[in-house]
Amino acid sequence: MFDYHIHSKFSVDAKMSMDEACERAINLGVKEIVFTDHIDMDWPDDDRHFAIENIEEYILDIERVQRRYKDSLIVKKGMELGYQPHLIDELNLRVKRFPVDFIISSIHVIDGLDPYKQTYYEGKTKKESYERYYEEILHMIQNFDNFDVVGHIDYVKRYSPIPWEKGEHLYGMDILDEIFKLLIEKGKGIEVNTSGYRHVSNTPMPDMEIVKRFHSMGGEIITIGSDAHSVEGVAYLFERALKELKDIGVDKLCLFTNRRPDFVYI
Ligand SMILES: [Zn+2]
Ligand SMILES: [Zn+2]
Repeated sequence: MFDYHIHSKFSVDAKMSMDEACERAINLGVKEIVFTDHIDMDWPDDDRHFAIENIEEYILDIERVQRRYKDSLIVKKGMELGYQPHLIDELNLRVKRFPVDFIISSIHVIDGLDPYKQTYYEGKTKKESYERYYEEILHMIQNFDNFDVVGHIDYVKRYSPIPWEKGEHLYGMDILDEIFKLLIEKGKGIEVNTSGYRHVSNTPMPDMEIVKRFHSMGGEIITIGSDAHSVEGVAYLFERALKELKDIGVDKLCLFTNRRPDFVYI
């Protein structure tokens, strides 16, 4: 098992130290983890400002646990970027200044609104709330290159005030097709974020049907991550996700070192 999405307490919304995350991973038999703390800038609300305050210290702490656990766990350096169109130059600067193994680019703020909050959904149908989010992901892939996978693609399903309905993963599929085509062309991929299983839809993010679509179009770069913010979250429901991935025909996962992909059969 390989957990490619973990937040330590360098992200303000997370509670565990890097040591606690590593020890939990070792106890669960996880072979490799990547810390992907938040590089988010310009949040609309102070109460949801999660970004790492000191990236130097963050990198040094990863290097410390790499040494401490080197006999039992591979620990890699990562980041979860919070993409917004006006931040492209800033994000590129940070990526250049702090080289890591793996980068997730996620959209946490769109049109100045945080989809965690209700204001994003006001004046939009459920379908429109997906489509606007997917359009922004497409814009990101067209204009920004410094990432390896897109984070939690169907994120808006999680916080929509309109109750979840079976089949809503089909909303915006035409835009998803464009997203996947471009991702594949650019040699990038998607993550399967198992924190999604906590949602009423009982699917990862994105829905396994969306992963299936990416795979059927020729998408090979698929990582798996728990998005753990606490010890209990590490490698959350990974066995189930691996089984479901095999069921849809995915037989390998992608690992990264110095931003270069490598594959491992599951
Ligand atoms: Zn995220
Ligand atoms: Zn995250």
